[in-house]
Amino acid sequence: MTVDIVVCGLGPAGRALAHRGLAHGLSVTVVDPAPERRWTATYAAWLDELPGWLDPTVVAAAVDRPVAWGTRRHELGRTYTVLDTAKLQESLDITGAQVISDRATDIDRNSVTLASGATITAERVIDARGLARSPERAEQTAYGVIVDEQRAAGLEPLFMDWRTDNGANPDAPRSFLYAVPLGGGAMLLEETCLAGRPALDSTELRTRLQHRLRSRGIELDGTEPVERVRFPVEGGRPGRGRFGAAGGFTHPATGYSVAASLAAADAVAAGASPWPRSGRAVHKLRSAGLRALLALPPNDIPLFFDAFFTLHPHSQRAYLSGRTDLPGTAAAMTALFAALPMRLRHTLATAVLPRR
Ligand SMILES: Cc1cc2nc3c(=O)[nH]c(=O)nc-3n(C[C@H](O)[C@H](O)[C@H](O)COP(=O)(O)OP(=O)(O)OC[C@H]3O[C@@H](n4cnc5c(N)ncnc54)[C@H](O)[C@@H]3O)c2cc1C
Repeated sequence: MTVDIVVCGLGPAGRALAHRGLAHGLSVTVVDPAPERRWTATYAAWLDELPGWLDPTVVAAAVDRPVAWGTRRHELGRTYTVLDTAKLQESLDITGAQVISDRATDIDRNSVTLASGATITAERVIDARGLARSPERAEQTAYGVIVDEQRAAGLEPLFMDWRTDNGANPDAPRSFLYAVPLGGGAMLLEETCLAGRPALDSTELRTRLQHRLRSRGIELDGTEPVERVRFPVEGGRPGRGRFGAAGGFTHPATGYSVAASLAAADAVAAGASPWPRSGRAVHKLRSAGLRALLALPPNDIPLFFDAFFTLHPHSQRAYLSGRTDLPGTAAAMTALFAALPMRLRHTLATAVLPRR
């Protein structure tokens, strides 16, 4: 029997797509080697990125005006949310889908071959298998601890804080502090390497986090629950049959993809292409943004983010979230370039422009 859609991979992207497929009355088959695996990562997103169909109770905490620090403080006029991961997974209900516990080994437009040897045919097959790690792919890494809000007293929610009180050598690759409420009186404090090839390792990030928190009057005693982050920020390929990180949804310069997948799931389930032409062009621009970021001398990164967070909020939003907004992304990147000191413009132009 041919089903309407087979979704390979049950991470946030695949599960959201399967969920919306069922909501549209499609017959849905999902394939994942561990379909019951519980997600544990802390997912966050801008509130205005979340689709209207999403159960609003998946938002565990919201920060109205998160703060970013380059060399100075910026208040961001956009609400940031931290999701309740377990609730998110539950709310993307796939009751009614045929669930196959297996690995997809060969995927094409209308059929998928499984490691067990079986083949499934479908009107559409979507690859949402995520991204495998590889030394060629830039990664984001982080080391975080979860503390009681009282212990973090005085620390405001921080989208990113690039100040230099983490004990790192000034010429070493930079990392920033991410500090968000998780709801229920808990806070996640995470030292993050935004993108590196290779990225900073967990031991270095832990040392920096401890140093930074100590210098802000927060002592850790080693009993705090830990979150470790490591995932590729590049490598997905835009295409009609791919979705989520596998399909190039990861913003290469921020690492975010979950909200973009949630936002696109309904239209893609209904048959739209995940990649209109404008989206492919944005993907290229964003990849240039990653090259720029990787080329920046560590000492200049805070200046770069000062310039970014001084852009008009529409431009910030377009760059961070406008996956298919070509004019908005191009305008944001142009404005950012213009706002940078001449010295940095030269570094970035050399990194970004195609070589002959
Ligand atoms: C600790 C942590 C925190 C993070 N925080 C954020 C955040 O705040 N915001 C954000 O946007 N992103 C965040 N990320 C990144 C985010 O996790 C990924 O971008 C996201 O999971 C990608 O979703 P996906 O569904 O496309 O792929 P994945 O989550 O990688 O899911 C892929 C699925 O495919 C399955 N699979 C693999 N191979 C096969 C196969 N051969 N056949 C069938 N199935 C297969 C896997 O079992 C898995 O279930 C974080 C990551 C970590 C580790």
